[in-house]
This record gives sequence, structure tokens and C-alpha cells, in this order.
Amino acid sequence: MTAIARREEQLWSRCAGCASLLYRKRLRRNLDVCPECGEHARLGAPERLRQLVDPGSLRPLSDLLPEADPIDFVDVLPYPHRLTAARASTGLAEAVVCATATIGGHPVALAVMDFRFLGGSLGCAVGELITRTAERALDDRVPLVLVTASGGARMQEGALSLMQMATVSQAIAALREAGLLTVSVLTDPTYGGVAASFATNTDLVLAESGARMGFAGPRVIRQVTGRALPEGFQTADFLLRHGQVDMVVQRRSLRGRLVALLAATRAGRAARAGHPPVPRQEPASRRERLADDDAALARPAGPAAAVAPSPTSGAVQTPAVRDAWDTVWMARHPARPTTLDYLDSVFDGFVELHGDRLGGDCPAIVGGVARLAGRHVMVIGHQKGHTTAELVARNFGMASPAGHRKALRLMRLAARLGLPVVTLVDTPGADPGVSAEEQGQAAAIAENILTLTVLPTPVLAVITGEGGSGGALALAVADRVLMLENAVYSVISPEGCAAILWPDRSAAPQAARALRLTAPDLCRLGVVDEVVPEPSAAAHGDPAETAHRLRAALLANLLPLLDVPPAMLVRLRRQRFRRFGTSRGVNRAGVR
Ligand SMILES: [Zn+2]
Repeated sequence: MTAIARREEQLWSRCAGCASLLYRKRLRRNLDVCPECGEHARLGAPERLRQLVDPGSLRPLSDLLPEADPIDFVDVLPYPHRLTAARASTGLAEAVVCATATIGGHPVALAVMDFRFLGGSLGCAVGELITRTAERALDDRVPLVLVTASGGARMQEGALSLMQMATVSQAIAALREAGLLTVSVLTDPTYGGVAASFATNTDLVLAESGARMGFAGPRVIRQVTGRALPEGFQTADFLLRHGQVDMVVQRRSLRGRLVALLAATRAGRAARAGHPPVPRQEPASRRERLADDDAALARPAGPAAAVAPSPTSGAVQTPAVRDAWDTVWMARHPARPTTLDYLDSVFDGFVELHGDRLGGDCPAIVGGVARLAGRHVMVIGHQKGHTTAELVARNFGMASPAGHRKALRLMRLAARLGLPVVTLVDTPGADPGVSAEEQGQAAAIAENILTLTVLPTPVLAVITGEGGSGGALALAVADRVLMLENAVYSVISPEGCAAILWPDRSAAPQAARALRLTAPDLCRLGVVDEVVPEPSAAAHGDPAETAHRLRAALLANLLPLLDVPPAMLVRLRRQRFRRFGTSRGVNRAGVR
């Protein structure tokens, strides 16, 4: 309320587009779109909801969650201080506001992100709240509408924030299976892990006029490529031109467009069900259901939260604790075995399959059929190289959208043929380039993540070297996730994290420690199920022994999965990724 009062006091505001001085009330009446130049100012979630839903229909969903600081993250400020400040300045509990409402009389469940709250970053709480909203849509059999505004995953929650991309995606997959419409509305800005998951793996993707969306941000791409970016790069019109969004919509037309789409898809559903659409009555028990939600929130985490590795797993044999920054360098060692090395040493009879069937064959992803101890499997992995020439030829293991689509094709093929999938993850991240963005990097990653959450065949992932953010997760949503002892797996590179949260990049070693990116840390957090010990000379010092150990670990983990019926596999995989939002209290103890 005070925020509103304060805003009213500010009678004038300056347009970020044309610098015109505008009367505040006139601007608000114009939905915060500049009447002079058409610039769409960013909206907070409460104002966005007011603009979209029918008056009086909004029923907020509970945003009560346990306090989140799952990895005890500290940069120049402890994470809880940043959370407290964000809450005070926005009046919100988190970076998303979730509700049920009607839009033009059509009932929907909505999750609206708010960029003012820590850059709309996707942490465990945000993932949990959006997942619950999707589950509510499934329960109520209504469409899900997501309005995105985010810089990406929340660094301060490490790899657990990365897991939220899978958690929300599998909730969207459930809506797909149920034939319920999902719509995302991209608003400015939508980047990183949000772009590469629920912002783009919905049925319909609308971009608000002026919104920018992409996987890698323009600053990173400029830095990596050293080139100026094309005019209008990553803007709504650019996205439309490159086939990545269904439409670009002016803010004043957004509500009307949603009403039309909801009406059209509802008519289709009703026709399939054999009866005409009837306006849905608000259930009388709504208040009770809200009470149920609150009761559910109060429940302690269930058995799914038991993430401690079993006695036979997580065998970290080296008692000496290596510094996280040293491990980062071990994981990047140029002599470290690559996917093709393991295909030679761990598997037999590899037959490589090429191409995404859409126009490309990405050299940073290799895949094909192979045998593991006589059993046929589909192996898909990132390929780096040992020499500079190899690394350049393989784009340093950074997959393009064509690479992610090749992987997707091979995953689906494996499921059809009844072959288990083994993935070997070793990438600094997805390709941060202009053409990768033009070809839909975010959507390609998002589709892989969603598909893996429901792939009806065993999936076993191994982080063998670098597990870099969404590019790694695109191959790592699995029934079992193994990690070589000196591999790392992180939501962002330590250098990137240091550049954002510390005064400069020289803080990368501190960032590496704060991110909890080593195998033992991730095993304690439940992100990884088992650490595969490396020989004392490390993987690059003794590749043969490393291959021997990896083979044993693959067999020990794969064989039990072969007996599980596909439907149960998918259910268990869903539970595995569903728990990352809810078991934080339990996990937290394990990290100390
Ligand atoms: Zn203007």
C-alpha cells in the first residue's frame, strides 16, 4: 500500500524510450505504455494481474514457503539479506505471484513473474510456486497462463535453481498429456533458465511488444563473439521473424488476445468431449481448497525428501577435500577424457547417428547406438577435444540448437526402440552466439528438458567434466545422475557469477566455493545420486582406470532400471525432480 501511495506522490515520470515527461496518472491509464513513443514500461506482477484478469475474479494462491537459503550462499552480502531487501522494496514474498482467475469469463491458473524481485530470478521457491500453479490448473482442468520476466536461474541457490527448470517443465508436460492449454506471455526481459524452460515449452508463446527474450544475454554474446549484435537482436519482432513466438502483441491488445485464444481452445476441448462449452461456476468449496493449500504447506517434507545417498552409493573415497576452484580446473583439464574417448573405452560397437533432420548436424553433440556389457543403449554426449584444433572444431563442447535437436531426436528414437539412454555431460554451457539465438536456443533446450521428464525409457546421466547450466541440464534430466569425482555442475560459471555478484571476476575462486558445484556437495544436495571416484592421478592422469570405474558405475545403476516398467520410471523421475522445490529444509542440513 505504501508503495502505491508513494507512487501516487510522484506525479510525473520520464519515459525510458523517448525521455518525454509524462503525467503519471495518464501513463497508468494507458497501461504504462508511453503515449508519445509506444514504449512499454515494465510492470510489477500485481499491476499485470489487474490488467489481465476479470475484475473481482482474482484468487491469490498461497505464497507461504519455508525460508530458502539452501546452500548458505554468501557473496558480498548474505543471500537472506538480499531476500529481505527484495521483500521490503516490492511488498512481495517472492519473484512470482500465482492465482486463479477468469479472463473474459474463462477460468485459468496464472503465474506472473516480477522482475523487481531479484531480477525475477528462478529459485526453489519460484519453481515450487509455479509448479503448484500448474498442478492447480491440472486439478481444476483449466489452462495455465504464465507471464515471464526474469534474468534466469537464481545463482544464490546454485544447482538447485537449475533443477527448477526440470520441475516446472514436468508440470507443463503433465498439462500437455492432459490436453490442457499452456500459454506463456514473454515480457521484458526473459532470459536464461526461464527462457530455456517454461517460457518457451508451452503450447503458445506470445511476446509483448518490445519484450526481449533469449538464452544468453546480449552482453555475454558480445563478449564471447567480439562482434556487434544485429539491430533489434532478441526483441519480440526478431523472435517473430525467426519463428520463435506465435505473435507479438501490444499491451492494450494482450487481454483480448488471451480471451480469443482461451475461447478457441476451449471450444475445441468441449467439442472433443461431445458437449458445448458452458460457463464454469466458481466452486463453492474454493475457500476450503485454499485452506487445503495452506495445510499442505505446513506439512513437513515427505519421504521423497530423503535424499541421502544410499550406503552403496556416493562412495567418495578421497578424504582430502580439494578446493572447489581447483576442481573447476581439473574438470576443464584438456587431457580429461571426452565423450568419444569413453565411447571407445567404456562402450563397444558405437555407431554414430548424425543430424537434427531440420538442417544441421552440431559437432558439439555426438550420439548413437552402442553396447554396454553386451546390452544396446543410446549414448548422447557433449564432445570437447584435447587439442585447440579439436576444441574449435567441436565449438568447445557448446551445443547449438541443432545439437539439442539432434539429442532430442535420438532420445525419442531410443524410447521408440526400447533402448535405455546414457548421457555424458561435459559442456561449459550452450553456444552463446547470434545464430544460436536466431535458431531458438532457449526453446531447443526447453523441449529437451520437458521431453526427458517424461521419456518412457531408462535415462542415466553422467556429469563427466563441466556441467554448465541449462546446456548441461538439457542432457541431464535422468532417473539417476552420476558425477565423476572431479567434475563440476553449476547454474553459472564461477567467473560469470563473480562478474555479477562480486566487484570483479578475480573473485571466481570464492564464487566457485559459494556455488557448491563439486560432486560431493551436489550429492549431499540430492542433485546427484552417486559420485564416481577417480583414480588418484585423476581422470586425465589415468583414463583407463577412470573408464573402468565409470563402466562399473554405469552397469550398477543401469541394470536395476531395466526392470522398471516405463510408466513407473516416469513417475519416479517426476518425483525425483519434484522434490527439489519442497525438501529444502532437509537438504540444508546436509550442506553444513
Ligand atoms: Zn516515450
